[in-house]
Amino acid sequence: MNTQTTDILVIGGGPAAMVLATTALENYPDKKITIVKIEKIGQVPCGIPYVFGTTLGSSDKNAMACGGVIVEMIDIKVDKIVKVDFKTKTAFGLENTIVYDKLVFATGSIPFVHESLSHTLDHENVFTISKYKDDIDKVKNYIEDKKRIIIIGTGFIGVEMAIELKSIGKDVTIIGGKNILVNSFDTDLAIQGEDIMRDLGINLSLGQHASNVIENDNLATAIELCDGTIIEGDAIILCTGYKPNTVLAEESGLKDTMYGGIWVDEYMKTTQKDVFAIGDCSGRRDSITRNPSKVMLASTSAAEARVAANSLYGLKYLKGFSGTIAIFSTMIGNRAFASAGVTEAQAKKENIDYVVGSFESMNRHPGTMPDASKQFIKLIALRSSGQIIGGQIVGDKEAGEIINIIGLTIESQLTAHHLISLQVATQPVLTPAPTTYPLIKAAQNILLNKSACHTK
Ligand SMILES: Cc1cc2nc3c(=O)[nH]c(=O)nc-3n(C[C@H](O)[C@H](O)[C@H](O)COP(=O)(O)OP(=O)(O)OC[C@H]3O[C@@H](n4cnc5c(N)ncnc54)[C@H](O)[C@@H]3O)c2cc1C
Repeated sequence: MNTQTTDILVIGGGPAAMVLATTALENYPDKKITIVKIEKIGQVPCGIPYVFGTTLGSSDKNAMACGGVIVEMIDIKVDKIVKVDFKTKTAFGLENTIVYDKLVFATGSIPFVHESLSHTLDHENVFTISKYKDDIDKVKNYIEDKKRIIIIGTGFIGVEMAIELKSIGKDVTIIGGKNILVNSFDTDLAIQGEDIMRDLGINLSLGQHASNVIENDNLATAIELCDGTIIEGDAIILCTGYKPNTVLAEESGLKDTMYGGIWVDEYMKTTQKDVFAIGDCSGRRDSITRNPSKVMLASTSAAEARVAANSLYGLKYLKGFSGTIAIFSTMIGNRAFASAGVTEAQAKKENIDYVVGSFESMNRHPGTMPDASKQFIKLIALRSSGQIIGGQIVGDKEAGEIINIIGLTIESQLTAHHLISLQVATQPVLTPAPTTYPLIKAAQNILLNKSACHTK
Protein backbone atom coordinates (compact mmCIF):
# COMPACT_ATOMS: atom_id res chain seq x y z
CA MET A 1 0.00 0.00 0.00
CA ASN A 2 1.29 3.38 -1.08
CA THR A 3 0.92 6.09 1.66
CA GLN A 4 1.15 9.75 0.70
CA THR A 5 0.15 13.16 1.96
CA THR A 6 -1.60 15.92 0.09
CA ASP A 7 -3.07 19.33 0.86
CA ILE A 8 -6.33 18.99 -1.08
CA LEU A 9 -7.79 15.57 -1.86
CA VAL A 10 -10.68 15.33 -4.31
CA ILE A 11 -12.58 12.05 -4.59
CA GLY A 12 -14.08 11.94 -8.08
CA GLY A 13 -13.15 12.56 -11.70
CA GLY A 14 -16.29 14.11 -13.15
CA PRO A 15 -16.93 17.76 -14.04
CA ALA A 16 -17.20 18.83 -10.38
CA ALA A 17 -13.84 17.29 -9.43
CA MET A 18 -12.05 18.69 -12.47
CA VAL A 19 -13.37 22.22 -11.95
CA LEU A 20 -12.59 22.08 -8.25
CA ALA A 21 -9.02 20.94 -8.83
CA THR A 22 -8.24 23.48 -11.55
CA THR A 23 -9.85 26.38 -9.64
CA ALA A 24 -8.06 25.38 -6.43
CA LEU A 25 -4.77 25.31 -8.33
CA GLU A 26 -5.40 28.85 -9.56
CA ASN A 27 -6.22 30.02 -6.02
CA TYR A 28 -3.59 28.08 -4.09
CA PRO A 29 -0.66 27.40 -6.44
CA ASP A 30 1.55 26.23 -3.57
CA LYS A 31 -0.82 23.50 -2.41
CA LYS A 32 -0.55 19.90 -3.53
CA ILE A 33 -3.79 18.76 -5.12
CA THR A 34 -4.66 15.10 -5.58
CA ILE A 35 -7.61 13.65 -7.48
CA VAL A 36 -8.62 10.01 -7.03
CA LYS A 37 -11.06 8.63 -9.57
CA ILE A 38 -12.19 5.17 -10.55
CA GLU A 39 -12.00 5.46 -14.33
CA LYS A 40 -8.75 6.01 -16.23
CA ILE A 41 -10.35 8.06 -18.99
CA GLY A 42 -13.63 9.72 -18.16
CA GLN A 43 -16.50 10.37 -20.52
CA VAL A 44 -18.09 13.79 -21.09
CA PRO A 45 -21.35 12.82 -19.36
CA CYS A 46 -23.52 15.19 -21.40
CA GLY A 47 -22.11 13.69 -24.60
CA ILE A 48 -23.06 10.10 -23.75
CA PRO A 49 -26.39 9.97 -25.68
CA TYR A 50 -24.52 11.15 -28.80
CA VAL A 51 -22.18 8.14 -28.59
CA PHE A 52 -25.14 5.92 -29.53
CA GLY A 53 -26.13 7.59 -32.79
CA THR A 54 -24.64 9.32 -35.78
CA THR A 55 -23.61 12.50 -33.93
CA LEU A 56 -20.48 11.11 -32.21
CA GLY A 57 -20.90 7.42 -32.90
CA SER A 58 -18.18 6.26 -30.51
CA SER A 59 -17.23 6.62 -26.84
CA ASP A 60 -13.64 7.26 -28.02
CA LYS A 61 -14.88 10.59 -29.38
CA ASN A 62 -16.48 11.44 -26.05
CA ALA A 63 -13.40 11.29 -23.82
CA MET A 64 -13.21 14.02 -21.20
CA ALA A 65 -10.45 16.55 -21.84
CA CYS A 66 -8.92 17.44 -18.51
CA GLY A 67 -7.87 21.06 -18.96
CA GLY A 68 -4.41 20.76 -20.52
CA VAL A 69 -1.27 22.02 -18.82
CA ILE A 70 -2.96 22.87 -15.51
CA VAL A 71 -3.93 19.23 -15.04
CA GLU A 72 -0.31 18.16 -15.39
CA MET A 73 0.22 20.03 -12.11
CA ILE A 74 -2.41 17.94 -10.33
CA ASP A 75 -1.66 14.46 -9.01
CA ILE A 76 -4.31 12.22 -10.60
CA LYS A 77 -4.62 8.67 -9.30
CA VAL A 78 -6.83 5.93 -10.68
CA ASP A 79 -8.16 4.11 -7.63
CA LYS A 80 -11.34 3.63 -5.65
CA ILE A 81 -11.54 5.19 -2.19
CA VAL A 82 -13.26 2.66 0.07
CA LYS A 83 -12.98 4.33 3.47
CA VAL A 84 -12.35 7.76 4.97
CA ASP A 85 -11.33 8.39 8.56
CA PHE A 86 -12.10 12.01 9.42
CA LYS A 87 -10.26 11.85 12.76
CA THR A 88 -6.89 11.01 11.22
CA LYS A 89 -7.75 12.82 7.95
CA THR A 90 -6.94 9.69 5.95
CA ALA A 91 -8.60 8.26 2.84
CA PHE A 92 -8.04 4.61 2.05
CA GLY A 93 -8.09 3.42 -1.53
CA LEU A 94 -7.61 -0.08 -2.91
CA GLU A 95 -4.02 0.83 -3.78
CA ASN A 96 -3.32 4.16 -2.06
CA THR A 97 -3.61 5.60 1.43
CA ILE A 98 -3.77 9.39 1.36
CA VAL A 99 -3.48 11.75 4.31
CA TYR A 100 -5.14 15.09 3.48
CA ASP A 101 -5.63 18.55 4.90
CA LYS A 102 -8.85 19.39 2.98
CA LEU A 103 -11.12 16.71 1.53
CA VAL A 104 -13.72 17.18 -1.21
CA PHE A 105 -16.34 14.55 -2.06
CA ALA A 106 -17.23 14.76 -5.77
CA THR A 107 -18.51 11.21 -6.12
CA GLY A 108 -21.36 12.20 -8.44
CA SER A 109 -24.48 10.23 -9.20
CA ILE A 110 -25.50 6.77 -10.39
CA PRO A 111 -28.56 5.60 -12.33
CA PHE A 112 -31.79 5.45 -10.34
CA VAL A 113 -34.25 2.66 -11.07
CA HIS A 114 -37.57 2.47 -9.27
CA GLU A 115 -37.92 -0.71 -7.21
CA SER A 116 -40.81 -1.87 -9.43
CA LEU A 117 -38.32 -2.17 -12.32
CA SER A 118 -35.04 -2.91 -10.54
CA HIS A 119 -35.40 -6.70 -10.91
CA THR A 120 -35.43 -6.29 -14.70
CA LEU A 121 -31.75 -5.33 -14.60
CA ASP A 122 -30.98 -9.04 -14.10
CA HIS A 123 -31.88 -9.58 -17.77
CA GLU A 124 -29.00 -9.36 -20.21
CA ASN A 125 -30.96 -7.01 -22.51
CA VAL A 126 -32.02 -4.41 -19.91
CA PHE A 127 -29.66 -1.50 -19.28
CA THR A 128 -29.23 1.83 -17.56
CA ILE A 129 -26.94 4.55 -18.88
CA SER A 130 -23.88 4.73 -16.67
CA LYS A 131 -21.11 7.31 -17.10
CA TYR A 132 -18.33 4.72 -17.45
CA LYS A 133 -16.94 3.98 -20.90
CA ASP A 134 -16.98 0.18 -20.46
CA ASP A 135 -20.66 0.21 -19.49
CA ILE A 136 -21.55 2.50 -22.38
CA ASP A 137 -19.68 0.32 -24.86
CA LYS A 138 -21.44 -2.77 -23.46
CA VAL A 139 -24.87 -1.29 -24.21
CA LYS A 140 -23.75 -0.03 -27.61
CA ASN A 141 -22.31 -3.40 -28.59
CA TYR A 142 -25.38 -5.30 -27.38
CA ILE A 143 -27.86 -3.22 -29.35
CA GLU A 144 -25.75 -3.07 -32.50
CA ASP A 145 -27.62 -5.92 -34.23
CA LYS A 146 -30.93 -5.42 -32.39
CA LYS A 147 -33.80 -3.62 -34.09
CA ARG A 148 -36.50 -2.76 -31.55
CA ILE A 149 -35.34 -0.59 -28.66
CA ILE A 150 -37.64 0.43 -25.80
CA ILE A 151 -36.63 3.45 -23.75
CA ILE A 152 -38.36 4.00 -20.43
CA GLY A 153 -38.23 7.62 -19.28
CA THR A 154 -38.99 10.84 -21.13
CA GLY A 155 -36.54 13.21 -19.46
CA PHE A 156 -33.65 14.77 -21.37
CA ILE A 157 -31.56 11.62 -21.43
CA GLY A 158 -34.41 9.39 -22.63
CA VAL A 159 -35.34 11.88 -25.35
CA GLU A 160 -31.73 12.33 -26.51
CA MET A 161 -31.16 8.55 -26.50
CA ALA A 162 -34.35 7.99 -28.53
CA ILE A 163 -33.32 10.52 -31.18
CA GLU A 164 -29.79 9.16 -31.47
CA LEU A 165 -30.92 5.53 -31.70
CA LYS A 166 -33.45 6.49 -34.36
CA SER A 167 -30.64 8.18 -36.32
CA ILE A 168 -28.98 4.75 -36.79
CA GLY A 169 -32.19 3.13 -38.00
CA LYS A 170 -33.51 1.54 -34.83
CA ASP A 171 -37.21 1.08 -34.27
CA VAL A 172 -37.51 3.17 -31.07
CA THR A 173 -40.39 3.37 -28.61
CA ILE A 174 -40.18 5.76 -25.70
CA ILE A 175 -42.46 5.28 -22.70
CA GLY A 176 -43.10 7.98 -20.14
CA GLY A 177 -45.40 10.44 -18.39
CA LYS A 178 -48.14 12.63 -19.84
CA ASN A 179 -45.64 14.70 -21.82
CA ILE A 180 -41.93 14.56 -22.57
CA LEU A 181 -39.53 16.72 -20.52
CA VAL A 182 -42.28 17.29 -18.01
CA ASN A 183 -40.00 18.77 -15.33
CA SER A 184 -38.71 21.48 -17.63
CA PHE A 185 -41.43 22.43 -20.09
CA ASP A 186 -45.11 23.24 -19.95
CA THR A 187 -47.41 21.18 -22.15
CA ASP A 188 -47.66 23.86 -24.87
CA LEU A 189 -43.93 23.59 -25.54
CA ALA A 190 -43.50 19.88 -24.79
CA ILE A 191 -46.03 18.88 -27.45
CA GLN A 192 -43.97 20.70 -30.08
CA GLY A 193 -41.06 18.42 -29.16
CA GLU A 194 -43.34 15.38 -29.23
CA ASP A 195 -44.54 16.25 -32.74
CA ILE A 196 -40.95 16.53 -33.96
CA MET A 197 -40.10 13.16 -32.40
CA ARG A 198 -43.10 11.55 -34.14
CA ASP A 199 -42.03 13.14 -37.42
CA LEU A 200 -38.61 11.55 -36.91
CA GLY A 201 -40.39 8.18 -36.72
CA ILE A 202 -40.05 7.60 -32.96
CA ASN A 203 -43.00 5.84 -31.30
CA LEU A 204 -44.21 7.80 -28.27
CA SER A 205 -46.15 5.97 -25.62
CA LEU A 206 -47.09 8.73 -23.18
CA GLY A 207 -49.25 8.78 -20.09
CA GLN A 208 -49.00 5.02 -19.61
CA HIS A 209 -46.50 3.70 -17.14
CA ALA A 210 -44.87 0.30 -17.48
CA SER A 211 -46.77 -2.11 -15.25
CA ASN A 212 -45.08 -5.37 -16.10
CA VAL A 213 -42.07 -6.74 -17.88
CA ILE A 214 -42.67 -9.89 -19.92
CA GLU A 215 -39.76 -12.28 -19.71
CA ASN A 216 -38.50 -15.27 -21.63
CA ASP A 217 -35.39 -17.09 -20.35
CA ASN A 218 -32.87 -14.40 -19.52
CA LEU A 219 -34.45 -11.80 -21.79
CA ALA A 220 -37.08 -9.12 -21.26
CA THR A 221 -39.16 -9.44 -24.41
CA ALA A 222 -41.89 -6.85 -23.90
CA ILE A 223 -43.26 -4.15 -21.65
CA GLU A 224 -46.88 -4.22 -20.59
CA LEU A 225 -48.40 -0.78 -19.98
CA CYS A 226 -51.06 0.06 -17.37
CA ASP A 227 -53.80 -0.05 -20.05
CA GLY A 228 -52.75 -3.57 -21.13
CA THR A 229 -50.85 -2.50 -24.26
CA ILE A 230 -47.87 -4.75 -24.97
CA ILE A 231 -44.75 -3.25 -26.52
CA GLU A 232 -42.26 -5.79 -27.77
CA GLY A 233 -38.57 -5.02 -27.84
CA ASP A 234 -35.13 -6.55 -28.28
CA ALA A 235 -33.49 -4.31 -25.69
CA ILE A 236 -34.76 -2.02 -22.95
CA ILE A 237 -32.96 1.08 -21.73
CA LEU A 238 -34.05 2.54 -18.42
CA CYS A 239 -33.60 6.33 -18.42
CA THR A 240 -35.41 6.85 -15.15
CA GLY A 241 -33.11 9.31 -13.44
CA TYR A 242 -30.00 9.40 -11.25
CA LYS A 243 -29.38 9.43 -7.51
CA PRO A 244 -26.52 10.91 -5.50
CA ASN A 245 -23.66 8.48 -5.01
CA THR A 246 -23.17 8.87 -1.27
CA VAL A 247 -22.29 5.37 -0.07
CA LEU A 248 -18.71 6.30 0.83
CA ALA A 249 -19.77 9.57 2.49
CA GLU A 250 -22.48 7.83 4.52
CA GLU A 251 -20.17 5.02 5.60
CA SER A 252 -17.68 7.66 6.68
CA GLY A 253 -20.33 9.33 8.84
CA LEU A 254 -21.58 12.30 6.82
CA LYS A 255 -25.19 13.42 7.03
CA ASP A 256 -27.55 13.19 4.02
CA THR A 257 -30.39 15.47 2.91
CA MET A 258 -33.95 14.45 1.96
CA TYR A 259 -33.06 13.13 -1.51
CA GLY A 260 -29.88 11.47 -0.30
CA GLY A 261 -27.32 14.12 -1.27
CA ILE A 262 -24.60 14.95 1.26
CA TRP A 263 -25.72 17.82 3.49
CA VAL A 264 -23.74 21.01 2.70
CA ASP A 265 -23.98 24.65 3.70
CA GLU A 266 -23.95 27.60 1.27
CA TYR A 267 -20.18 27.19 0.79
CA MET A 268 -20.36 23.44 0.14
CA LYS A 269 -18.99 22.57 3.60
CA THR A 270 -20.27 19.33 5.14
CA THR A 271 -20.90 18.68 8.82
CA GLN A 272 -17.21 17.64 9.18
CA LYS A 273 -14.50 20.27 9.52
CA ASP A 274 -12.31 20.57 6.39
CA VAL A 275 -14.61 18.30 4.40
CA PHE A 276 -16.62 19.61 1.41
CA ALA A 277 -19.07 18.02 -1.03
CA ILE A 278 -19.80 19.30 -4.54
CA GLY A 279 -21.62 18.17 -7.67
CA ASP A 280 -24.34 15.55 -7.95
CA CYS A 281 -23.39 13.90 -4.63
CA SER A 282 -24.23 17.07 -2.69
CA GLY A 283 -27.69 17.94 -1.38
CA ARG A 284 -29.39 20.69 -3.41
CA ARG A 285 -32.25 23.10 -3.00
CA ASP A 286 -34.34 24.83 -5.62
CA SER A 287 -33.43 28.51 -5.69
CA ILE A 288 -37.05 29.67 -6.11
CA THR A 289 -39.13 27.25 -4.01
CA ARG A 290 -36.29 26.36 -1.59
CA ASN A 291 -37.54 22.75 -1.74
CA PRO A 292 -34.95 19.96 -1.83
CA SER A 293 -34.04 19.48 -5.48
CA LYS A 294 -33.31 16.34 -7.48
CA VAL A 295 -31.93 18.29 -10.45
CA MET A 296 -28.49 17.02 -11.45
CA LEU A 297 -26.53 19.09 -13.91
CA ALA A 298 -22.91 19.40 -14.96
CA SER A 299 -23.23 23.20 -15.04
CA THR A 300 -24.55 23.38 -11.47
CA SER A 301 -21.84 20.93 -10.38
CA ALA A 302 -19.17 23.17 -11.93
CA ALA A 303 -20.62 26.25 -10.21
CA GLU A 304 -20.58 24.47 -6.84
CA ALA A 305 -16.99 23.38 -7.48
CA ARG A 306 -15.94 27.02 -8.06
CA VAL A 307 -17.69 28.12 -4.88
CA ALA A 308 -15.88 25.47 -2.81
CA ALA A 309 -12.50 25.85 -4.51
CA ASN A 310 -12.38 29.61 -4.01
CA SER A 311 -12.97 29.29 -0.28
CA LEU A 312 -11.26 26.04 0.77
CA TYR A 313 -8.90 27.94 3.09
CA GLY A 314 -11.24 30.71 4.23
CA LEU A 315 -14.11 32.65 2.75
CA LYS A 316 -12.86 34.57 -0.25
CA TYR A 317 -15.98 35.41 -2.28
CA LEU A 318 -19.61 35.41 -1.25
CA LYS A 319 -21.55 32.63 -2.95
CA GLY A 320 -23.28 34.12 -5.97
CA PHE A 321 -26.17 31.70 -6.08
CA SER A 322 -28.21 29.85 -3.55
CA GLY A 323 -29.86 26.84 -5.03
CA THR A 324 -30.26 25.26 -8.42
CA ILE A 325 -32.28 27.04 -11.06
CA ALA A 326 -32.68 23.88 -13.14
CA ILE A 327 -31.29 25.28 -16.37
CA PHE A 328 -31.29 22.85 -19.33
CA SER A 329 -31.22 22.80 -23.09
CA THR A 330 -31.42 20.12 -25.76
CA MET A 331 -32.05 19.63 -29.48
CA ILE A 332 -35.07 17.77 -30.80
CA GLY A 333 -34.69 17.41 -34.54
CA ASN A 334 -33.52 20.82 -35.72
CA ARG A 335 -35.21 22.77 -32.91
CA ALA A 336 -33.58 23.75 -29.63
CA PHE A 337 -35.60 23.42 -26.42
CA ALA A 338 -34.28 25.32 -23.41
CA SER A 339 -35.65 25.95 -19.96
CA ALA A 340 -34.66 27.67 -16.70
CA GLY A 341 -36.31 28.11 -13.32
CA VAL A 342 -39.88 27.06 -12.62
CA THR A 343 -42.44 26.08 -15.24
CA GLU A 344 -46.02 27.31 -15.14
CA ALA A 345 -47.12 23.86 -13.94
CA GLN A 346 -44.60 23.96 -11.09
CA ALA A 347 -45.63 27.53 -10.17
CA LYS A 348 -49.26 26.34 -9.93
CA LYS A 349 -48.28 23.33 -7.82
CA GLU A 350 -46.27 25.53 -5.45
CA ASN A 351 -49.14 28.01 -5.19
CA ILE A 352 -47.00 30.82 -6.57
CA ASP A 353 -48.95 33.91 -7.68
CA TYR A 354 -47.43 34.23 -11.15
CA VAL A 355 -48.01 35.86 -14.49
CA VAL A 356 -46.89 34.66 -17.93
CA GLY A 357 -45.70 36.63 -20.94
CA SER A 358 -44.71 35.05 -24.24
CA PHE A 359 -43.73 36.15 -27.70
CA GLU A 360 -42.70 34.58 -30.99
CA SER A 361 -40.89 36.20 -33.86
CA MET A 362 -38.14 35.35 -36.34
CA ASN A 363 -34.57 34.97 -35.11
CA ARG A 364 -33.17 37.10 -37.98
CA HIS A 365 -34.35 40.31 -39.55
CA PRO A 366 -35.93 40.67 -41.95
CA GLY A 367 -37.56 37.28 -41.46
CA THR A 368 -36.76 36.48 -45.10
CA MET A 369 -33.04 36.06 -44.27
CA PRO A 370 -31.87 32.64 -45.59
CA ASP A 371 -31.51 30.82 -42.25
CA ALA A 372 -34.31 32.59 -40.36
CA SER A 373 -36.55 30.49 -38.16
CA LYS A 374 -39.09 31.09 -35.41
CA GLN A 375 -38.01 31.88 -31.85
CA PHE A 376 -40.62 31.45 -29.12
CA ILE A 377 -39.95 32.67 -25.59
CA LYS A 378 -42.19 32.23 -22.57
CA LEU A 379 -41.37 33.99 -19.30
CA ILE A 380 -42.90 33.40 -15.89
CA ALA A 381 -42.77 36.14 -13.25
CA LEU A 382 -44.05 36.85 -9.76
CA ARG A 383 -47.26 38.83 -10.16
CA SER A 384 -46.45 41.17 -7.25
CA SER A 385 -43.03 42.36 -8.39
CA GLY A 386 -42.58 41.15 -11.96
CA GLN A 387 -39.46 39.22 -10.82
CA ILE A 388 -38.60 36.58 -13.43
CA ILE A 389 -38.72 33.06 -11.97
CA GLY A 390 -38.78 30.92 -15.11
CA GLY A 391 -38.33 30.86 -18.86
CA GLN A 392 -38.71 28.44 -21.75
CA ILE A 393 -37.56 28.73 -25.35
CA VAL A 394 -38.16 26.83 -28.58
CA GLY A 395 -35.97 28.07 -31.38
CA ASP A 396 -32.76 27.65 -33.29
CA LYS A 397 -29.43 26.75 -31.67
CA GLU A 398 -28.98 30.23 -30.15
CA ALA A 399 -31.73 29.26 -27.66
CA GLY A 400 -28.90 27.45 -25.85
CA GLU A 401 -27.32 30.82 -25.01
CA ILE A 402 -30.48 32.94 -24.65
CA ILE A 403 -31.60 30.62 -21.85
CA ASN A 404 -28.39 31.55 -20.05
CA ILE A 405 -29.48 35.22 -20.14
CA ILE A 406 -32.77 34.14 -18.62
CA GLY A 407 -30.83 32.11 -16.05
CA LEU A 408 -28.80 35.19 -15.11
CA THR A 409 -32.02 37.20 -14.91
CA ILE A 410 -33.48 34.67 -12.47
CA GLU A 411 -30.31 34.38 -10.39
CA SER A 412 -29.92 38.16 -10.26
CA GLN A 413 -33.56 38.56 -9.23
CA LEU A 414 -34.23 40.91 -12.14
CA THR A 415 -37.76 41.83 -13.14
CA ALA A 416 -39.71 42.27 -16.36
CA HIS A 417 -39.14 46.03 -15.85
CA HIS A 418 -35.38 45.46 -16.18
CA LEU A 419 -35.84 43.38 -19.33
CA ILE A 420 -38.02 45.88 -21.19
CA SER A 421 -35.21 48.43 -21.07
CA LEU A 422 -32.51 45.88 -21.91
CA GLN A 423 -30.13 47.18 -24.59
CA VAL A 424 -29.41 44.35 -26.98
CA ALA A 425 -27.05 44.05 -29.93
CA THR A 426 -29.13 43.31 -33.02
CA GLN A 427 -27.88 42.52 -36.50
CA PRO A 428 -29.78 41.03 -39.46
CA VAL A 429 -27.73 37.86 -39.94
CA LEU A 430 -27.31 37.23 -36.21
CA THR A 431 -30.38 38.24 -34.21
CA PRO A 432 -34.08 39.03 -34.15
CA ALA A 433 -35.14 42.57 -34.94
CA PRO A 434 -34.83 45.21 -32.21
CA THR A 435 -38.53 45.97 -32.76
CA THR A 436 -39.70 42.43 -32.05
CA TYR A 437 -36.94 40.98 -29.86
CA PRO A 438 -38.75 37.99 -28.29
CA LEU A 439 -37.11 38.20 -24.84
CA ILE A 440 -38.02 41.87 -24.46
CA LYS A 441 -41.50 41.48 -25.97
CA ALA A 442 -42.23 38.53 -23.63
CA ALA A 443 -41.21 40.76 -20.69
CA GLN A 444 -43.42 43.55 -22.04
CA ASN A 445 -46.31 41.07 -22.19
CA ILE A 446 -45.70 40.11 -18.56
CA LEU A 447 -46.17 43.73 -17.56
CA LEU A 448 -49.28 44.07 -19.77
CA ASN A 449 -50.79 40.85 -18.38
CA LYS A 450 -49.87 41.88 -14.85
CA SER A 451 -51.56 45.28 -15.10
CA ALA A 452 -54.54 43.80 -16.98
CA CYS A 453 -55.12 41.51 -13.99
CA HIS A 454 -54.86 44.43 -11.57
CA THR A 455 -57.43 46.51 -13.47
CA LYS A 456 -59.94 43.65 -13.61
C1 LIG B 1 -26.38 10.66 -20.31
C2 LIG B 1 -26.26 11.94 -19.53
C3 LIG B 1 -26.45 13.16 -20.17
C4 LIG B 1 -26.34 14.35 -19.45
N1 LIG B 1 -26.52 15.54 -20.10
C5 LIG B 1 -26.32 16.70 -19.43
C6 LIG B 1 -26.39 17.95 -20.11
O1 LIG B 1 -26.64 18.02 -21.32
N2 LIG B 1 -26.18 19.08 -19.38
C7 LIG B 1 -25.88 19.05 -18.04
O2 LIG B 1 -25.66 20.10 -17.42
N3 LIG B 1 -25.82 17.86 -17.37
C8 LIG B 1 -26.03 16.71 -18.03
N4 LIG B 1 -25.95 15.51 -17.37
C9 LIG B 1 -25.72 15.52 -15.91
C10 LIG B 1 -24.24 15.61 -15.60
O3 LIG B 1 -23.57 14.64 -16.31
C11 LIG B 1 -23.97 15.45 -14.12
O4 LIG B 1 -24.66 16.46 -13.43
C12 LIG B 1 -22.48 15.54 -13.85
O5 LIG B 1 -21.81 14.45 -14.42
C13 LIG B 1 -22.19 15.59 -12.36
O6 LIG B 1 -20.83 15.74 -12.21
P1 LIG B 1 -20.08 15.22 -10.91
O7 LIG B 1 -18.64 15.54 -11.12
O8 LIG B 1 -20.75 15.72 -9.72
O9 LIG B 1 -20.27 13.63 -10.89
P2 LIG B 1 -20.03 12.46 -11.92
O10 LIG B 1 -19.91 12.97 -13.31
O11 LIG B 1 -21.06 11.44 -11.62
O12 LIG B 1 -18.61 11.90 -11.52
C14 LIG B 1 -18.39 11.19 -10.32
C15 LIG B 1 -16.94 10.79 -10.24
O13 LIG B 1 -16.66 10.23 -8.96
C16 LIG B 1 -15.87 9.07 -9.12
N5 LIG B 1 -16.06 8.25 -7.92
C17 LIG B 1 -17.23 7.84 -7.37
N6 LIG B 1 -16.99 7.12 -6.26
C18 LIG B 1 -15.63 7.07 -6.10
C19 LIG B 1 -14.77 6.47 -5.15
N7 LIG B 1 -15.25 5.76 -4.12
N8 LIG B 1 -13.43 6.60 -5.32
C20 LIG B 1 -12.92 7.32 -6.36
N9 LIG B 1 -13.71 7.91 -7.30
C21 LIG B 1 -15.04 7.79 -7.17
C22 LIG B 1 -16.40 8.45 -10.40
O14 LIG B 1 -15.50 7.53 -10.89
C23 LIG B 1 -16.55 9.73 -11.25
O15 LIG B 1 -15.31 10.08 -11.79
C24 LIG B 1 -26.06 14.31 -18.07
C25 LIG B 1 -25.88 13.08 -17.43
C26 LIG B 1 -25.97 11.90 -18.15
C27 LIG B 1 -25.75 10.59 -17.46
